[in-house]
Amino acid sequence: MSESKELYEKMNDEIRAKKPKMAICYDFDKTLSPDDMQTFTLIPSFGIDKSEFWQSSNKLAKDNLMDTNLAWMHELIRYSEFKRKSLKREYFRETGADVKLYKGVKTWFKRMNEYAEKKGIELEHYIISSGLKEIIEGSEIAQYFKRIYASTYLYSADGVAKWPAQAINYTNKTQFIFRIAKGFLEEYDERVNDSMPDEMLRIPYENIVYIGDSATDIPCMRLVKSKGGYSIGVFDPQKDNRGKVYQLFSDGRINFYAPADYSANSEISKFMKQIINEISAKESIKTERKILKQPAEAFKMKKSIEDIARAYPGKMSAKEKREFEQMTSTLESIIPGNID
Ligand SMILES: [Mg+2]
Repeated sequence: MSESKELYEKMNDEIRAKKPKMAICYDFDKTLSPDDMQTFTLIPSFGIDKSEFWQSSNKLAKDNLMDTNLAWMHELIRYSEFKRKSLKREYFRETGADVKLYKGVKTWFKRMNEYAEKKGIELEHYIISSGLKEIIEGSEIAQYFKRIYASTYLYSADGVAKWPAQAINYTNKTQFIFRIAKGFLEEYDERVNDSMPDEMLRIPYENIVYIGDSATDIPCMRLVKSKGGYSIGVFDPQKDNRGKVYQLFSDGRINFYAPADYSANSEISKFMKQIINEISAKESIKTERKILKQPAEAFKMKKSIEDIARAYPGKMSAKEKREFEQMTSTLESIIPGNID
C-alpha cells in the first residue's frame, strides 16, 4: 500500500472508530416514579398529610407571587423548624431509598445501554427534575445517571438545609438540554450560552430524547423535538389517564406517547429501540459523509494554494517554495485517485 493510501485509510478508521453519543433525559416525578418524590417519606415524616402540604405550599406561592418550587423548598424548611427536625442532606438521601419507581425502571438503563452498545451508540442518561436532587441521589437508580439536574439546597457547615441553591422549574429546565448538547455540564458554567456549530456539539440535538409527563415538561419537549430530537409523553399505566398525552401529541409537542411501563416488552421500550435504530442509521450515514468530505476538502484547499502560488510566482522565496511544496504534498497524501 502506498504511503498516501495508508494515511487516508488510517484517517477513515479513526472517523469510523469514533462512537456517536446519545442522551436520554428524564423528568422524575410521575415519569419514572408514580408520585412526587417528597410524598413517599419526607412529608409524612413531619406528620402532615401530603395534600395539606402541597395546598399550603401552593398558597404561599400564589399569595407572594413566588416560584412554586421555591415555595415548597421554603415550606420544607419551615415545617422542619416547627417540628424541630433538622433537614439534613443525609436524611433526604435516606428518604430516596423509599421512592417508588414504575415497573421496569430498575432494569431499563442496563437494557437500553446494552441495546445502544450493540448499535454502536454510547448512551448517557440524565435527570432534569423540579424535585430534590438529594432524594434522587438516594434512590436505587442514581448510579445510572451521568448528571442529576434538580432543585437542591445550600447546606450549613453541619449539613442542614438553609437556602435554595437551585430551583428548577419548567422553563429553566431547558438550559440543561443545551448543557448536555454542548458538553458544559456544570450548573455554573456560563459558556452554555456560547454559540456552537452543530458539528462541534458533544451530543447533537437530534440524538437527544426527552421523557416527561406533564405541562412542566412542555418547554423541554418542544425544544428537543424542534431541534430534531425525540420527545415522549408518559402516563400512569394504572390510572390510564391519557388526556394530557393526547393533547401534547396533537399540539405537536411529542413524537411518541406510552404508558410509564419500562419493562422489557413495553411500548416505550419498543419506541426507544426504534429511536436508537434511527440514530444509529443516521450516524453511520454521517460517518460515511465525513469520510467523503476529507479528500474533497483537501482537493479544494490544494487548488486554492496552487491559485495563490500561481498569482505570485516570482515573489516566493526558497523557504516559501519549500513550505508550499510540503503543504501540497501533505494534501495530496489524503486525496486518493487521479485528480489531474
Ligand atoms: Mg413530572
